[in-house]
Amino acid sequence: MRLVLLGAPGAGKGTQAKKLIEMVGIPQISTGDLLRAAVSEGTALGIEAKSFMDKGELVPDSVVLGMMKERLQDEDCKKGFILDGFPRNTAQAEALDAMLEELGMPLDSALSVEVPLEDLMKRLTGRRTCKECGQMYNVHFSAPATDDACDKCSGELYQRDDDQEATIQKRLEVYTQQTAPLIDYYSGKGILKTVSGTGNIDEIFANVTTTLGIS
Ligand code: AMP
Repeated sequence: MRLVLLGAPGAGKGTQAKKLIEMVGIPQISTGDLLRAAVSEGTALGIEAKSFMDKGELVPDSVVLGMMKERLQDEDCKKGFILDGFPRNTAQAEALDAMLEELGMPLDSALSVEVPLEDLMKRLTGRRTCKECGQMYNVHFSAPATDDACDKCSGELYQRDDDQEATIQKRLEVYTQQTAPLIDYYSGKGILKTVSGTGNIDEIFANVTTTLGIS
């Protein structure tokens, strides 16, 4: 399966991607996670990316495309992949198509996880992630048993720097202007599928697998 996950920040793409990789055993490639790793390692790429991320803006295409070109050539991508948070605009989508054509592995589907814009702010401000295992929580909807520790591994929970209200507003604007047009882009290519991202995580996942024809 070669899949792009589309959806606004906070739509639950990462959560659904994690459940999918457990089921189908292919890598999840999240440009946000790759960029955050580069930021915490303090690499040149990370230092460049951080100023854009902190403002809620997109990191320049040249940075992201270079990173993705390398990642897609890794051995583990030969059996398929789930792209989470990439592409984020039409130029990236076109560049991705060209890269995958060159590698002889075109996309099968683009799955859009749809959540009303008014629900996203609460989801994003409430989001917490485990530093150790990456498990995600939401203090409003799926709170951990103890405030700052992961239920699974007792790791410390943190809030992403860009999950602050002012930055979230900007990220949602960037999504509407630059990323939402990809829904039409993939629809035009005949590979778009949509699923509601509202409700219980397991119910959403059941809809995801049915929609993708893998349940
Ligand atoms: P995410 O974890 O996907 O919400 O991404 C967090 C931030 O990383 C975004 O707000 C952007 O600043 C940056 N980012 C992630 N993916 C991309 C991408 N494909 N293109 C440009 N910037 C990105």
